[in-house]
Amino acid sequence: MNSGLQLVRQGPRWVEAVLGLLYPGVCHLCRDEPAGPADGYVGAECRARVHAVRAPFCQRCGLPYPGEISHTFSCANCAEVELHFETARAAAIADGPVLEAVHRYKYSDARWFHPFLAGLLCEAALPELRDAGWSMVVPVPLHAVKRRERGFNQAEALARPLARALGIPVRTELVHRVAPTHTQTTLSREQRAENVSRAFRAGSGRRRPFPWSPHESPPRLDGASVIVVDDVLTTGATANAVARELRRMGAQRVCVWSTARATLT
Ligand SMILES: [Zn+2]
Ligand SMILES: [Zn+2]
Repeated sequence: MNSGLQLVRQGPRWVEAVLGLLYPGVCHLCRDEPAGPADGYVGAECRARVHAVRAPFCQRCGLPYPGEISHTFSCANCAEVELHFETARAAAIADGPVLEAVHRYKYSDARWFHPFLAGLLCEAALPELRDAGWSMVVPVPLHAVKRRERGFNQAEALARPLARALGIPVRTELVHRVAPTHTQTTLSREQRAENVSRAFRAGSGRRRPFPWSPHESPPRLDGASVIVVDDVLTTGATANAVARELRRMGAQRVCVWSTARATLT
């Protein structure tokens, strides 16, 4: 990666804004091919470097498995933890163009990548989710402070086109993030699970940014089928913690979809 892109990945938001003005009509990943707003400023060559998640993968958490396996299987991690979702799936492996676009979208406010990232999610998820009785989409919430800092919740932004295509609502008021968990990138699987286990709380069911008080009951979701959406899924601990809250509220089934699948290194 050249130093210019390095600067963009870690640089402040204005860097993205200036680059957007300097390079209209070119791919914002390689700057070496044409691309426009409708394709999220990602050109055909960079798109060709996207690694879609393909079988074989764990039937529960979607963890891709290298090699040839013809039967369905669950990975060792899934055998060890209590999962509150039925399945977790991702559109693409979090590497190359996908990893870079997700990082810049999330941390540098490079929102022009939205059509690219949302497109990957919809393309992979819609054939699986359509006509399967799903009732709502719940994006993994950000803590209010972080949301204010970032200006948007990337999971919610990615959830909206998916929900629109399915003709079901996005419900952001059901689950709140009550603990401002710190970045998980340096944590082990066990530490991640511990880190997020108490981070989420059932919301009031109304549009206000704090959890329900002890004087009122959380909303009931009896019989609901819920799709949880996040930008990146790594161990699945975060999505699992959200799924647990939804199941406590009475959701009958929960599945998880993310744009990118990362693995612990
Ligand atoms: Zn490109
Ligand atoms: Zn698994």
